[in-house]
Amino acid sequence: VERFLEAFVAAVPSAGRGAPGAMVLLHDQTAVKRAERQRVDFLANASHELRTPLASLSGFLETLKGHARDDPEAREHFLTIMGAQAARMSRLIDDLSSLSRVEQNQHVPPTGVVDLAAVADDVSAALSPVADARGVAVHVDRRAPQALVVGDRDQMIQVVQNLVENAIKYTPRGGDVVVAVGAGAGARTAALGVGPLDGESTRLALVEPADMHGRFGWLQVRDSGPGIEPRFLPRLSERFYRVEEEETDAERAGTGLGLAIVKHIMSRHQGGFEVESAPGAGSAFTVFAPHGPGIADPPAAPSTGE
Ligand code: ADP
Repeated sequence: VERFLEAFVAAVPSAGRGAPGAMVLLHDQTAVKRAERQRVDFLANASHELRTPLASLSGFLETLKGHARDDPEAREHFLTIMGAQAARMSRLIDDLSSLSRVEQNQHVPPTGVVDLAAVADDVSAALSPVADARGVAVHVDRRAPQALVVGDRDQMIQVVQNLVENAIKYTPRGGDVVVAVGAGAGARTAALGVGPLDGESTRLALVEPADMHGRFGWLQVRDSGPGIEPRFLPRLSERFYRVEEEETDAERAGTGLGLAIVKHIMSRHQGGFEVESAPGAGSAFTVFAPHGPGIADPPAAPSTGE
């Protein structure tokens, strides 16, 4: 762990017969330095990410004005690429503005009550056209009739949407994405009812809940994609971090901001965010948030007739 310490050193003259001493005062500047560096990196990354599609747009514009002007086939091809680059820029701007909105109210705890089970249904319905187009089936697996948490509904929708979108994106055609929801006690075991992934998996907490005890509502998105190697897991929720640097599949080309948004929203909710991955078998992303003292416990027996 890299640390920045500011040290003040002073000689302490001996008082009478004792040997002279020294006083050392260490001031830990790690957090300050890190925040400073993050701000600088963020600006550099954001402008770099925007500059790349912009440069490509300008390049193709020149080509269209030049030798491709009278070549309808080439023109069509370049216009398609330009459309994709413009779409990428607008995705980046959307994600950047969501991130900054989330950061603005990072320290204001949410006050609403959200049912994660309802969020799971809404998001899987909303994304069904995307899933259908990619030949992936999304199932909701309710482990409890309700999974109530103290939260901001729009933000929880955004969390689940980012996770399900990723799961769909990385699952091969014909594969499944399972969105499991439930409620339970204890942050570590909150999601354990779901069981580990097949194969050799690694689990890592990307956000630790403020209070490890108490009741939580949880939601887990599990895919049958390629999984993520353990060494990449700690960096997943960094802004602009992508495992595959140069994305070859244009549809997959993301912004690297989705999981950073999830992380910020879950910290604001004083909840947790965990990733588990088994290379070759799939990944599972779990979020959980406190059930809250003001919320009545759900009925013990699962309701029927859903
Ligand atoms: P992106 O917009 O690139 O998807 P995210 O922040 O959502 O950004 O994800 C960061 C990176 O984490 C992705 O680029 C990808 O490499 C990896 N990743 C995220 N979700 C999955 C998943 N379900 N399966 C495999 N890799 C994933």
